[in-house]
Amino acid sequence: MIVVKVGGSAGIDYDAVCADIAARWAAGEKLILVHGGSGETNRIAEALGHPPKFVTSPSGYTSRFTDRETLEIFEMVYCGKMNKGIVERLQRLGVNAVGLSGLDGRIFEGRHKDSVRAVENGKVKVLRGDHTGTVEKVNTGLIELLLGAGYLPVLTPPASSYEGVAINVDGDRAAAALAVALKADALLLLSNVPGLLRAYPDEASLIPTIPAGDVESYLEFAQDRMKKKVLGAAEAVQGGVRRVIFGDARAGQPVSAALGGAGTVVS
Ligand code: ADP
Repeated sequence: MIVVKVGGSAGIDYDAVCADIAARWAAGEKLILVHGGSGETNRIAEALGHPPKFVTSPSGYTSRFTDRETLEIFEMVYCGKMNKGIVERLQRLGVNAVGLSGLDGRIFEGRHKDSVRAVENGKVKVLRGDHTGTVEKVNTGLIELLLGAGYLPVLTPPASSYEGVAINVDGDRAAAALAVALKADALLLLSNVPGLLRAYPDEASLIPTIPAGDVESYLEFAQDRMKKKVLGAAEAVQGGVRRVIFGDARAGQPVSAALGGAGTVVS
């Protein structure tokens, strides 16, 4: 079983990702796809007059501040446009894909964090009304039901809080939790970069391998949102996933290339 997470940044070639997945699925490989949608969400939020607000925590992690209106825009894009766009591509390629969010069947569950500590103008502020959280529990029953019946699950945030409230969760870490829960052989984190770069944005500075026991020490190379990927990779390998690969989803056969060792391999 392979869990493939494809990001939501500009430049990702979803046709290439879906074609590669369809070919592997037809050859009998079991796969699950998790996707993001941040680039498109930002664009649509701007167009709707509710521009995105990003906050940086005192420890340096950047996240989207998700008030109720933002959550609704987020759902429109992630669960609507992005999810159905991917499901349609896979259906055209002959794969019976089913698109679900983490809310559906409570596939992804976690604690709702209503407030966030954010650094603004050098001062730490507490912002309330946030709909965010972290995936703590993956309910694999529905996923196994789908896979067992021959459907390819296409999953996306949001998750469900324990109270049933929709929460925005990081897709990379959700995919990592899923890979651990399903005892996946590999987790692929595909984005619009060749992998983890030692001197971002210099693509020649690709870090080809990271020892599984040492992932967190590579956090220093990751800026802003790349940090979540490195954290997700650490969580996955600590949870027993043997291989995590940061791969390039901009062209070619992104899944096969990553499984073949292109990108940054954590093992
Ligand atoms: P996605 O939405 O595709 O999952 P993110 O935008 O969340 O991806 O994270 C990937 C981005 O992280 C890259 O597009 C790049 O701009 C940024 N980044 C920061 N530091 C690094 C690094 N050291 N190596 C590679 N990318 C990095």
